[in-house]
Amino acid sequence: MSHVNEPIDLRSDTVTKPSEAMRRAMAAAPVGDDVYREDPTVNRLQETVAGMLGKEAALFVPSGTMSNQLCLRTLTRVGDEVIVHEDAHVLHYEAGSAAALSGLQLRPVAGALGVLAAAEVEKVIRPASEHFPRTGAVEMENTHNRCGGTIWPLEAMEAVAAVAWAHGLAVHLDGARLWNAHKSTGVPLRAYAATADSVSVCFSKGLGAPVGSALAGTREFVEEARHNRKRYGGAMRQAGIIAAGALYALENNLDRLVEDHENAALLAGYLRQVPGVELIHPVQTNILIAAVEGLGVGAAQVVGALEEEGVLCGVATAGRIRFVTHLDVGTQAVKAAGEILVRVLSGLSRAARPDGHADRAAAAGSAAGTGTSAGSGPAAADTAEGAGS
Ligand SMILES: *Cc1c(COP(=O)(O)O)cnc(C)c1O
Repeated sequence: MSHVNEPIDLRSDTVTKPSEAMRRAMAAAPVGDDVYREDPTVNRLQETVAGMLGKEAALFVPSGTMSNQLCLRTLTRVGDEVIVHEDAHVLHYEAGSAAALSGLQLRPVAGALGVLAAAEVEKVIRPASEHFPRTGAVEMENTHNRCGGTIWPLEAMEAVAAVAWAHGLAVHLDGARLWNAHKSTGVPLRAYAATADSVSVCFSKGLGAPVGSALAGTREFVEEARHNRKRYGGAMRQAGIIAAGALYALENNLDRLVEDHENAALLAGYLRQVPGVELIHPVQTNILIAAVEGLGVGAAQVVGALEEEGVLCGVATAGRIRFVTHLDVGTQAVKAAGEILVRVLSGLSRAARPDGHADRAAAAGSAAGTGTSAGSGPAAADTAEGAGS
């Protein structure tokens, strides 16, 4: 590799490492056995999160996947159908757990920028019949990961919730990055959370904590989820050590998410300079997804070429690469990455089509050679590496 420094890691906001101050807070945290409900730091985190989301109670869990799955498990019965966006994290990146662990089938529905229209949700709610699965719940994801960190407008959430509740369905909000939506729009967390029976939030993404997520809902719901958490093996003992990282993150790293959004906008400016690269979604928070088919080389080759020059990003879906800004990459590093991007991607583009007229067949050929295909729809094939978090 030709770079001398550490690579600039823009693969995901999950790569953030705990700062010295966060580590000190974790080391100093008072702890107890959380299965006995005696960990004061876990209790404080749960009360804090419940308060921030305007819910009666919250539960600390090891991961966002467990959090989502506990919510779906607790809201539904075996054999139910859950309506989700066709690009939902629960559909693509949770290892089939809704089916494997809860006996659920997911019903994917299309929607621009990851947002479901209430009318489209209403169309797929099953009428009561012994032939049909029972529709048990509707799931929303804000911000929407696979659609590029896009934000569900509050009104869209309210409309979906109104339809779901009118039909007696439960509503779950995958708010892994709800913090980003809140910081971008100024909509209170409680207002978003009020549109769902259960909410899941992550501390291990842009907030920079090393481990952990939380779910929130009514006291009764959280008690039931707690029982399911035990079944799933997610009940932890002196978990205050890691809960302290999450508390530190909420107290110190929430407001600074706006910097990540500014840095994403900055990076978008560089990408827009490269012919053949297309940002396929408006950059609303900290995720950028760029279609690179126009460069005439496969996405995996693009990722490899950037890695050579010290910029790490990921293959999102076929023909698309993903960048995520976060607290371990400051503005200067983002500018440095942007300059490398422009140089490397422009070079790839020139090499692939010296006469400036790449033909689609050449692009498709090289894409096939790297195990990707030139799919263009939102449901394009995934690569093994994926960009699930
Ligand atoms: C990251 C993420 C999750 C949970 O991921 P874990 O890696 O299990 O913590 C859930 N939903 C969305 C939208 C995510 O981005």
